[in-house]
Amino acid sequence: NLDIRLNITSNDELGSLARAINDLAFETNRYRTNRKEFLANISHELRTPISYLKGYSQVLKKGLYKTEQERIQYLEIIEGESERMVRLINDLFDLSKMEEGKTDLQLSATDLIEVLETSFSKVKLDLQKKDITLKRQIDKDIPYIEADGIRLEQIFTNLLTNAVRYTEKGFINVQLWNDKNSVHVIIEDTGIGIPENDLPLIFERFHRVEKSRSRDMGGTGLGLAIVKNLVELQNGTIAVDSQLGKGTIFRLSFPIAR
Ligand code: ADP
Repeated sequence: NLDIRLNITSNDELGSLARAINDLAFETNRYRTNRKEFLANISHELRTPISYLKGYSQVLKKGLYKTEQERIQYLEIIEGESERMVRLINDLFDLSKMEEGKTDLQLSATDLIEVLETSFSKVKLDLQKKDITLKRQIDKDIPYIEADGIRLEQIFTNLLTNAVRYTEKGFINVQLWNDKNSVHVIIEDTGIGIPENDLPLIFERFHRVEKSRSRDMGGTGLGLAIVKNLVELQNGTIAVDSQLGKGTIFRLSFPIAR
């Protein structure tokens, strides 16, 4: 730890220098802690699926199952956990590239409605499995936005997947309108919501409201961190509002293509 804390409070140059050094020490410590936590999180997230893989392959190898159904069930766990690891590794790779500024986005005039349709079709199956209605309130003549179609779709598929994942019944409402400079999107769900304390942290890597509720649902805890990075790389903004037990609203805006 950088245990520096200078007790100079004067308002002259020396005071300013002391404040600058204190701020720097604080930031450095925060960065180090953050990095340490990040690495600890990665090892934990990778160790968990691997321990399942190991455990269930041993069970199968030793023939420790009674029925064919049980055997299939164990194989499905192995399959699911492998898929989960692939997702995690892909997400990590994506995120680290973005944070290094190495993600190449091809920004051009993009039809957001078409992108949304693709995202809708990807979550359609999961929607049908639950008692959720998809509502759309899309204004007429929405202008194209300056964005990267593939990356834009990643954003909306991610947000919609979360909305379906964390909602049991009710609706998911997608609204779209524009003003002079931007196109605005709202994705609203009637799901379990996010506690107020978690809201400011929700876009941080690996932040989950309750570790188990998200893991059981197949989440990696990286989705929203990726979403936020992607939105900002396309000069957009994203904000979240939520009420526990009532639902969640994500608000996004993107610049209109010139
Ligand atoms: P995960 O892969 O775990 O879903 P995300 O980064 O996508 O990770 O989301 C972070 C956490 O935010 C989730 O674990 C979940 O607790 C919460 N969350 C995200 N979207 C919603 C939503 N629409 N409704 C309720 N909780 C949500």
